[in-house]
Amino acid sequence: ITQPSANIGVVGLAVMGSNLARNLASREGNTVAIFNRSYEKTETLLTEHPEAEFVPAKTYEEFAASLQKPRTAIIMVQAGRGTDAVIDALTEVFEPGDIIVDGGNALFTDTIRREKAVRETGINFVGAGISGGEEGALLGPSIMPGGSAEAWETLGPILKSIAAVVDGEPCVTHVGTDGAGHFVKMIHNGIEYADMQLIGEAYDLIRRGTGKSPAEIADIFTEWNKGELESYLIEITAEVLRQVDEKTGKPLVDVILDQAGSKGTGVWTVQTALDLGIPVSGIAEAVFARSVSSKPAQRAAASALPGPTASPVENVDAFIEGVRQALYASKVIAYSQGFDAIVAGAEQYNWDIKKGDIAKIWRGGCIIRARFLNRITDAYAENPGLVSLVTAPFFTDVVTQAQDSWRNVVADAAHAGIPAPVFASSLSYYDSLRADRLPAALTQGQRDFFGAHTYKRVDMEGTFHTLWSGDR
Ligand code: NAP
Repeated sequence: ITQPSANIGVVGLAVMGSNLARNLASREGNTVAIFNRSYEKTETLLTEHPEAEFVPAKTYEEFAASLQKPRTAIIMVQAGRGTDAVIDALTEVFEPGDIIVDGGNALFTDTIRREKAVRETGINFVGAGISGGEEGALLGPSIMPGGSAEAWETLGPILKSIAAVVDGEPCVTHVGTDGAGHFVKMIHNGIEYADMQLIGEAYDLIRRGTGKSPAEIADIFTEWNKGELESYLIEITAEVLRQVDEKTGKPLVDVILDQAGSKGTGVWTVQTALDLGIPVSGIAEAVFARSVSSKPAQRAAASALPGPTASPVENVDAFIEGVRQALYASKVIAYSQGFDAIVAGAEQYNWDIKKGDIAKIWRGGCIIRARFLNRITDAYAENPGLVSLVTAPFFTDVVTQAQDSWRNVVADAAHAGIPAPVFASSLSYYDSLRADRLPAALTQGQRDFFGAHTYKRVDMEGTFHTLWSGDR
């Protein structure tokens, strides 16, 4: 009988799992057990990375036997049925006190369900959101684990050892119990959708408004990346725009089919926010923008519909600066809405989520990493009860400074017939929030008129119904 030698195991050795396993193996003190349903992937990883000194297993039994107790295994398999199959197999061979971590992109309600079921066996189940794609998994992702405090005690040091590090702090924190980690990862992805769409709208406005080439716009983004918009997404946008297609010599962006795909986490965010009653309009418009793009028949049928002829922008530099400011303000709104959803989710599911810590662990490793996340951490540190991020002094300053440009850009886009759904909806949301009175009063009147749904009054307590002249 061989002694168990590994302190951590990875199940699922496709791109994410093998990179995570290599990351784990590269850290001092870790010995990594590996398992994959089909052995070929295990063999390939062993052959390609002898330096990692992996402990391979051909069966779940062998895998369990190779792990020191409490056994800790990170699952990186296809989300959904694959995850359930692996959890079932591991619970057969693991013992109470062991820890199963699902590092895949699970829907948080699945994680709540799985945690409950696995907990009944005495085994700990942790749903951990892992962001940063392939490169993050290998070099240091942002990790959002849920699960019990007990599991975090064992898991924390291991995850801290592999996470991205910013200002000496690893980008991982215990987010909350059961599905909290996957919930926060889902919101992260939703914000990513909004951020990407905003950058897309900025590019489109500049391109169609000024006639600049993708390479010239790449330079603009590179410049923006030196300032307050500094972020991974702005940085890679410049690289994407600079890329030339080898085949045609054209900018690559011009030969890529303009139909955006998705893997569904944006849709989850919006569906969840709808259920929670939280307006995440920026994220929703970003998801819808991808849907519109992917409707070739409708787009072809509508292509002859009338619209304005865009006249070229007069002051190009001022216009570009205006777009930058509109992007910044809209981005603040997207985050503000995303954090509203986190607050509402925490309330609904009884999670003690520290908002400032979430912004902190998003500073490195993940796709939405950005300089301004520090400001979100600061805002929640100054006022833990902050009801809306955009009302924090720093962000109020941002939108105050940006708002003239923001309004001009949205108006210019409308006049020129250039779609800017996230710019426009973010501005509408901002104006709705600040409005003294909203036409919701009229909505209530209409609802009372046709359905006797009643209304409340501004000047006295109680519930009221009017005998409308139209009452039958
Ligand atoms: P993937 O293509 O999503 O999944 C392939 C892996 O799942 C293979 O190892 C496969 O084993 C295994 N698998 C599927 N069904 C199984 C079952 N019934 N039983 C056991 N194993 C099963 O792999 P990935 O792209 O590396 O992603 C892994 C997870 O990370 C996913 O949940 C994904 O959403 C998440 N994620 C991915 C990224 C990314 O950038 N790719 C980023 C963040 C998170 P076989 O080799 O035997 O088929």
